This record gives sequence, structure tokens and C-alpha cells, in this order.
Amino acid sequence: MKEFDAIPAFRMLGNLYFVGSYQQSSHIIDTGDGLIMIDVGGEENLPYVLAGFERLGFSLADVKYLLLSHWHWDHADGVPALRKLTDAKVLIGEPDAAWLKFPVDGVLRDGDKITLGNTTVTCLLTPGHTEGSLSFFFDVKDGEQTLRCGMFGGAGHRQLSKAFLDKYGIPYFMREEFFASIERLEKEHVDVLVGNHSWHNRTREGREILLQGGPNPFIDPAAWGIFLAALRKKMWKLIADESREQFLVLAHRGASEYCPGNTMLAFYAGVYMGAPGIETDVRRTKDGVLVLFHDATLEKAMGQPGSISDYTLEELKGFPMEKNGLRDRIPTLDEFLAAFGDMDLSFAIELKDADIETDVAEAIRRYGLEKKAVVTSFHLEYLQKMHTLAPELKLGYLARAGKITEEVLAQLKASGIDTLCPRVPDILPENTKDWHGHGFRVRAWGVTNEEDMRQVYDNGADGTTVNFPDKLLAYIQEQNAKNEEK
Ligand SMILES: [Zn+2]
Repeated sequence: MKEFDAIPAFRMLGNLYFVGSYQQSSHIIDTGDGLIMIDVGGEENLPYVLAGFERLGFSLADVKYLLLSHWHWDHADGVPALRKLTDAKVLIGEPDAAWLKFPVDGVLRDGDKITLGNTTVTCLLTPGHTEGSLSFFFDVKDGEQTLRCGMFGGAGHRQLSKAFLDKYGIPYFMREEFFASIERLEKEHVDVLVGNHSWHNRTREGREILLQGGPNPFIDPAAWGIFLAALRKKMWKLIADESREQFLVLAHRGASEYCPGNTMLAFYAGVYMGAPGIETDVRRTKDGVLVLFHDATLEKAMGQPGSISDYTLEELKGFPMEKNGLRDRIPTLDEFLAAFGDMDLSFAIELKDADIETDVAEAIRRYGLEKKAVVTSFHLEYLQKMHTLAPELKLGYLARAGKITEEVLAQLKASGIDTLCPRVPDILPENTKDWHGHGFRVRAWGVTNEEDMRQVYDNGADGTTVNFPDKLLAYIQEQNAKNEEK
């Protein structure tokens, strides 16, 4: 078991007590008619909590309610062991109950109140950190004063990083929820900021000040607002840092500036240039095979009349494509995924034809690319269909310039589409900030020259398709070097 740094249990003010460690917090409210406990921490924290009960002279048998701020292990995993020692009712925010490894006695909804003895705890649903994060508010009497205590139960922003969200398949829109929760909490008056972790309100330092007989440092009506504002700032910094450090360069139809687009040659060229991702387009042949091809007609690329659906795969394979003296033939989606699927790459797969959703989803699943691929389209209805039949897939909506309204964003969110693909002219700092605030990933398209490329990178997008990944990668490297010099 991990060794934690103990913070000896102490009375913060009135009938509110801290028990636990530096790493994991638990609080006790002595209501005069039993105890309300908020969080327990993980199993590793339990010895510290038990020592705290003993030190304060409380009995676990008197705990009537254990309120969990959210389901994460460092707040809740001590519950099964604790239950052997108490009959307390364990309650958690409704959406978080499903994530726990153990059953609870009930769920809490926004605005629910728990009353015991002289105390009523108001629970607000403040999602973001988790879907069901709860914040708790209650009055404490300290001498003659009645002071309002507040705890933001979902105050961690690191769990909203791209890596974390992707790993656990958590919707990107939790970021929007997080910002909304902060905004909502800022409207609450709080005299005493109760930490969901000890560093939120400097529990240890505060205890020292109390021991030395100083004025109670936890009573500070300004602390709540300062804490929330700092948290919002940290979240924005995380978003900005990620968009620089993890900017996704997608070789557009491969390195199509140099090779015939959507050929194995172009894809290999993109990968050799160092592009961490490939973008391609899917259509269906006359004989039902999914192939990679962009244009609605064959004229420009193959010099043939008609379109992909007019020919069989065998016929299409007979029409070579050429650029800069380089020749290659049309690949199937399957050939492409067989060659690149197990490489450490991201994929953007655009649906160019109707009614290919089922087969594209099947191919992505067959190659295990659910986490590495984003299915994109200009057609909202293709994406909606895709979301219905393969809800685990990530989806991106390709928007025409100037067409992204609040209404469109709401529609995308309702359809489970969390990647927004705006065209270059729309990639402006105020827009990317707005879209990020709504919880979208912003992946640009339509980069045609180096100026476009710089605009997209400089204005805060998370990635882009580009025909010349080599140039964009060089530019990013140059910018990083400049930043390091600073
Ligand atoms: Zn947590």
C-alpha cells in the first residue's frame, strides 16, 4: 500500500473537521445528530481517516451519510472497506454511479439536499471532471457567525486532457461542461473553501496557522472566486498547450502535393515525411468495393469519363494516376488499412458516397482503429447515421467557410460529433477559442499554401489536413525552437 503524508485530523471551524492525508481528503460534519462524511479517499487513505476519527473522538458508527464528490478512486475506493465499519448511506451523483466498482445506497441529483441534525448539505451537479461531479454547500456556525462552506467536487482539469478523454472514451463535451460548472459555481457565495484535495485550500498550512492561534485562514470569502478563476485559466492553458504540442498534421490524400493523391505512393510519402496522420476519401465501385478516391468524376485524375460507381474495381485499377512523373493505381480501403492500420498513425476517413457507413465502420472495427480514426463528412446525415450504427467512432464535421453557427454547433453536439473541421478562413483566434469553449476539437481543412498553413497553426487549431506535410512539420519545429529560446 502506498505511504501517504498524514495531515493530523483537526477542526477547521465550527462543526467541520478534516481527516485524511495530504494526497486524499475526507471531511466530517458533526450535525449533533450523527456525522456526515464527504469523500473517503482510496483504500490507501483509509488508515489516515480512521486515525483521524480516533484523534477527534468520533465513532464510525455515527456516520449516517457518506457523500461522494465523484467516482474517482482517490475519492471513493475506500468505500467497500469502510462499509465493514459503518452503516452509513453512501450517495453519489447519479451519472457517476455506473462508474463505481461497488453499489451505492442512492444517487444524488442537482439541487438535492441532505439534512441531518443541524446541517443541510445542498448538492449541485457540476460535471466536467466527471459526468456526475457534485459540489456541496452547507452552513457552519463558528462562534456567533454563520459561514457558508463550499466544495467544488470536480475541480481537476487534468482529466480533461486529450490523452485522458481518449483513453477512457469520455466525450470531449465534458470540457464545455467544466467551463459551465465553473461559471455556475462562481455565482455561489462561499465564505469557506473546502478542498476536494488538500492543495485546493492549503489544508496543511491552514492547520499550522490554527495551531499557532492565528485568525482562521479558512474563512476567506475571496478564496472561492480566486480558486475558480485560477481553475478556468489552467483549463484554457491546457487547451492552448495541447493544440501546440499535439498539433495533428494529416497528410491530405497522402502527400498529395508531390504524388498522385489517394495512392499508396502518396500515403507512404506522407508517412516518410513524418506526418503523424493520413487523411483519405472513401467511395464505392460498381461492384461494391470501397476505394479511396476524392473527385466526383474521374476526368481530372484518371482522364476517363464517368465516376467511380460506373466502373468495377478491376476496370479502375486499369486507369493509372500520375503526378510529377510518379504513377500509381487506385487503392481499396482494405489495401490501405492493411498497410497502415497497425502503424502509430491517426486517420481521417471521409465519407464521399452515401450508404457506405456500415462498411466503413466494419473496416475500422476489423482493423481495431476505433481510437485512431475519425470519420468525417460534409454531410451531417452520413455522420448521424454513422453515430447510430457505430456510436464508439469519433466523428468530424467538415464545414464550409462561414457556415458555423451556434445552431450548427448544437446540432453537432446532439449528433455526437465532437470534431469540428472548419475551412482555413474561419480559423481565427476568437473562433477557435469559442469552439474549444464548446468542447470541440478543431481540425482545419483547405490549406492550399504556406500562409494558410501558418494561419491554421498560429490561430489555435488542433490539427489540419495538408498536401505538403513536410513544410508544415518544418514550420512547427521552427516555432517550437523559437519558443524554447524564449
Ligand atoms: Zn477526480
